[in-house]
Amino acid sequence: MIIKTNILTCNNHVDLVFQKNAFLNINENKIVNITDNYTGDYKDYTNYLALPGFIDTHTHISQKNIMGLQKPSLLDWLDTYVFPEEEKFTNRNHANAISKSFFDNAIKNGTTCLVAYTTIHREACDIAFENAKKAGIRALIGKVMMDINSPEKLTENASKSIEDSISLYEKWHGKHPLLEYIFSPRFAISCSKDLMKEVGDFIKKNNAYMQTHLSENLDEIANIKSLYPGFKSYADVYYQCNLMGEKSIFGHCVHLTEEEIDLLKGTNSKIAYCADSNFYLKSGEFDIKSAEENGVVFALASDIGAGTSFSMPYHAKMSIYRQSHTQISPAKAFYLMTLAGAEVLSMQDRIGSIEINKEADIVFYDYTGLSVLEPESILSRIIYTDMSSQIKQVMIAGKELI
Ligand SMILES: [Zn+2]
Repeated sequence: MIIKTNILTCNNHVDLVFQKNAFLNINENKIVNITDNYTGDYKDYTNYLALPGFIDTHTHISQKNIMGLQKPSLLDWLDTYVFPEEEKFTNRNHANAISKSFFDNAIKNGTTCLVAYTTIHREACDIAFENAKKAGIRALIGKVMMDINSPEKLTENASKSIEDSISLYEKWHGKHPLLEYIFSPRFAISCSKDLMKEVGDFIKKNNAYMQTHLSENLDEIANIKSLYPGFKSYADVYYQCNLMGEKSIFGHCVHLTEEEIDLLKGTNSKIAYCADSNFYLKSGEFDIKSAEENGVVFALASDIGAGTSFSMPYHAKMSIYRQSHTQISPAKAFYLMTLAGAEVLSMQDRIGSIEINKEADIVFYDYTGLSVLEPESILSRIIYTDMSSQIKQVMIAGKELI
């Protein structure tokens, strides 16, 4: 398939690459060539602007229905809204309806790859995988694990939790080109050391993905200190349980100490920056400068339902607004919702930008109102104003989905 269009992409965190009237040659799932001239037949998308598909590095499928229901602190919010909603996922129909509409909304907003938690329920997680497959979205999905300090209906037996997670991993790992399993112990408050240690040993042995929450809120951190008195820090709990590594993604990381940053860096662990949610729950401000100076890889995340939108450009705007001392340019925010996301997933050779040999994950905007602007200003408009209605096509792995 040859598409004539206008391409705006990035190859790093500062430099934009803009190509007007370029010919994109897509063979099956891959971009095989990008040229200025082509003499054969082509699909005319010259009224469109092609951007790399957006990547959301941390979100909760199960929390779609509680979006906008707020309590100004994490633990209170979990008890009041999140846990009662997550209990509903024993119901197949509910699990099916929510995950289906979750992926539809994500795709409509230009998200081509997402990293998601479901609930503790094995079947609900399996249904989410089936729906992701049907929707054609690229996704890493995991069943939440919780075996202590949780509401009765959301408390698992540790061995059953591990058994269910491993069986989902075996069912979905490496079986579909767009899907991957990610182990998802919720956080150290609701997971026993034994459970986390077993997950840690499994992911190390199998080079598997893992996601959890780290240092989001001060009450949570105080709670961790009393639950794990023998550990140097919150991050140290995960480190000692073998949960840190290149394929481990830690959500939030708002109140990290220098030692914790060193642990993340030393293990090449990744951070999901949930700009909107950190303020929604009054958790605090992620120290972007410290992460950058220490070379810890991070990228943007919606963190639905504490995040209030499916739109990653909206979260890019929040990442700019929510930094009181660090200037983030639209180009940088663009990088944080595309290529940086791919780096967090160690998938930068496959996705994250529009380049030869990468898979064709592309979002096409209506270009007519944007064509008079310079590339930086185009991004500025897409990030600062809601242009989601101007998304005309979304392609994942070469397949058009809208
Ligand atoms: Zn979360």
